[in-house]
Amino acid sequence: MNDKAIWGLIKAEEARQRDGLELIPSENYVSKDVLSAMGSVFTNKYSEGYPSFVGLDADDAEIAEKIMPSLRYYGGQENTNRVERLAIGRACRLFKADHANVQPHSGAQANNAVYFAWCEVGDTILGLDLGHGGHLTHGAPVTQSAKVYNFVRYKTTKNGDLDYDEIECLAKKHRPKIILVGFSAYPKVPDFAKVAKIGEKYGSLLMADMAHVAGLIAGGVHPNPFDFGFHVMTTTTHKTLRGPRGGLILSRGKVGNPLKKPEKTLENIPTLIDRAVFPGTQGGPLVHVIAAKAVAFREALQPEFKQYAKQIVKNAARLAEELKARGFQLVFGGTENHLILVDMVKSFGIDGKQFEAALDKIGLNLNANAIPNDTLPPFRPSGVRLGTPAITTRGLKEKDMVEIAEWMKLAFENREDDEKLEKLRLAVQAFSRRFPLPSDN
Ligand SMILES: *Cc1c(COP(=O)(O)O)cnc(C)c1O
Repeated sequence: MNDKAIWGLIKAEEARQRDGLELIPSENYVSKDVLSAMGSVFTNKYSEGYPSFVGLDADDAEIAEKIMPSLRYYGGQENTNRVERLAIGRACRLFKADHANVQPHSGAQANNAVYFAWCEVGDTILGLDLGHGGHLTHGAPVTQSAKVYNFVRYKTTKNGDLDYDEIECLAKKHRPKIILVGFSAYPKVPDFAKVAKIGEKYGSLLMADMAHVAGLIAGGVHPNPFDFGFHVMTTTTHKTLRGPRGGLILSRGKVGNPLKKPEKTLENIPTLIDRAVFPGTQGGPLVHVIAAKAVAFREALQPEFKQYAKQIVKNAARLAEELKARGFQLVFGGTENHLILVDMVKSFGIDGKQFEAALDKIGLNLNANAIPNDTLPPFRPSGVRLGTPAITTRGLKEKDMVEIAEWMKLAFENREDDEKLEKLRLAVQAFSRRFPLPSDN
């Protein structure tokens, strides 16, 4: 690369990733194949619209043929069409969906497109409160969508369930167009059947934002919302799913021609979504990223990915146990997925930011995070959030969780002793270097 400045930074970032352990639960390490697809010449191509199904690869024909005819606004699409069709077919197979839109540039874009597909300005959407584990895009007042739609938020109960009584109450009162189940900082498995029942009763679209747990669903260790009657599922592709940064919308329904405006019915959801992504909320798709998504979906369809997903959950359970044994107080007492929330104030009387800073110094990355009913402000919250998707990709197993919990405890005890922290950093570095990045191979 001729740009020495940028090349130097890429190399420095590689070293940072290799020499530390990534505990941020929304991050992961992609394969070399995913990286190659992302760095390909598909970035040069404009392909607004959707693919045709001429010349389809046989194994995806059945799913893809149901989807739509050729609809691109530029020529030269013989390869982009095949790429997008492969991505769509694989995504549908992975999540048992009738339709996939693989074009959203990010998870936020995917959510906005679904809101736009189904709601008019001012319509009500019911979602999980940000402070209780919901995502910014589920109606936080600082977002654009919160200006357009009327978001009403439900919370979690003391024992960590979604507050299903509150959901029912709010649904009855507001008759929301959408009931949204999804989270970025929630360590339990929601009861999709309960929410589906409420949604059916009040005529709401059932939407699941599975950005954090999509890889667990694909790997069969987390329930799939479609099995409970959900209509739409959005996700990012870069978290547990281990693909490139991007978004994905899956749905059940009849796949139609996106050039014809369909009636707003549940059956037409796939077509409404296609129109909402393009031209509704985005321009040209990122075909290089779609190619990388297709590669990641294929990887997630392999038997090894099931093992990976299982190991993420096993590692998280063990890490939770080891942390508890060392005095860390976990929100809701533990974890059922890949993610752990620690109440640092209750554990050791320091806030999440202080602990995040101490761990940064030794090469363990996690993030400060609000806990339910937090009394501290968002920029200095009471908790930290951590998880096992990335370290499981590196190849860490249950026994390695002992080491991580011990380092976390030592970092807390020595948080004001820079010399001790430096020694810990070297220990973490030596340990981490035993586990190469997937892109090193
Ligand atoms: C990460 C996340 C998103 C947003 O994804 P971006 O790609 O960062 O826009 C949306 N919803 C949930 C639940 C998430 O965890």
